Amino acid sequence: DPMAQVNGNYLKLKAGYLFPEIARRVKAFSEANPEAPIIRLGIGDVTEPLPEACRSAMKAAIDEMGTREGFHGYGPEQGYLWLREAIATHDFQSRGCQVSAEEIFVSDGSKCDSSNILDILGEGNRIAVTDPVYPVYVDSNVMAGRTGDADDAGQYGGLTYLPITASNGFTAPLPEGKVDLIYLCFPNNPTGAVATKEQLKAWVDYARANGSLILFDAAYEAFIQDPSLPHSIYEIDGARECAIEFRSFSKNAGFTGTRCALTVVPRGLIGTAANGEQVELWGLWNRRQCTKFNGVSYIVQRGAEAVYSPEGQAQVKALIAFYMENAAIIRRELSAAGLAVYGGEQAPYVWIKTPTGVDSWGFFDLLLSEANVVGTPGSGFGAAGEGYFRLSAFNSRENVLEAMQRIQRALSAPAAVA
Ligand code: PLP
Repeated sequence: DPMAQVNGNYLKLKAGYLFPEIARRVKAFSEANPEAPIIRLGIGDVTEPLPEACRSAMKAAIDEMGTREGFHGYGPEQGYLWLREAIATHDFQSRGCQVSAEEIFVSDGSKCDSSNILDILGEGNRIAVTDPVYPVYVDSNVMAGRTGDADDAGQYGGLTYLPITASNGFTAPLPEGKVDLIYLCFPNNPTGAVATKEQLKAWVDYARANGSLILFDAAYEAFIQDPSLPHSIYEIDGARECAIEFRSFSKNAGFTGTRCALTVVPRGLIGTAANGEQVELWGLWNRRQCTKFNGVSYIVQRGAEAVYSPEGQAQVKALIAFYMENAAIIRRELSAAGLAVYGGEQAPYVWIKTPTGVDSWGFFDLLLSEANVVGTPGSGFGAAGEGYFRLSAFNSRENVLEAMQRIQRALSAPAAVA
């Protein structure tokens, strides 16, 4: 007899996912050149140690767990109220957003939340993503059977792609017709672009006029430097009626390996059932989390809570300032090398136009072989990312400076322009 059936949607996924292909090329190069001192400015993982405030809080929590009185078993699936209250106060109410603790769901990552959200959304939705895009939004829709097959350019049938390029300032155009679900990410991965209040207002107005739901990924909000820019979609009037927001402790507090994030589902935000009935999304997400998730560890939630202490706030600010100085160095040095650079001012990513006649993977190979620097080809984030290249600011100062020197040398060598 044949074995059990697999989820055929997985077979629609494009074989050469970006990061495995990068790993394959780096491995091949390293094997051929074992002495090459490779510097990685590719994947968006942080490099600086965990803030002291978070470590102290987690150590204290471990000791509590070692006592009968302080032991914690299963916690609330939604997260401990003290953490949800700290988040509501510091991240939202302090910016004038009417988000309450009850509307915050603590989780172990916004990668999983931004994929899992499809559990509570119907099959028939018309979905819009930007191009280029954080690949998780697209692939999770493919896995959930919400798309058709990929075409030769790698675009999936049924998805609406909104191209973001230098010619539109990397801000997505509003869709021409009605879409039901819109993924937005500001500050943006991969382009490093950010949205103004006016731009977000245009999205909120569109969503309310069309009955669309915005899935707003604010994983990089802490990197915003310009005080006039919005950190949350809820800074825009009406967003509570049309948006879910994802946040993470990964990039601000260095929790990529510690794991803590949150999703905001406002009370009163509704969707439509097949019979036309209006259904509150909050109840569905709460039900989903209670059934499929058992919460983030007590220890980690205490670590996340410490981000909001005065020491934690100062330490996170210093981390962000450190990475943003790296981004400024990358922008400055690559501009001096004659490249057009975008982003990197309100986000830890610098988005580079590849030199004329060199495509994204060509530039990847050139930097790898001539500078021993690993970045990310823009085409890996979508067809409209072709001709661009992403460098991340997550590395030591020493490595960033060294990488910039090497790239300048490589680009001024005659071979690079040949
Ligand atoms: N959202 C975006 C846009 C990201 O770039 C990343 C990580 O790189 C995530 C979410 C994932 O965050 P987390 O570590 O909370 O899963």
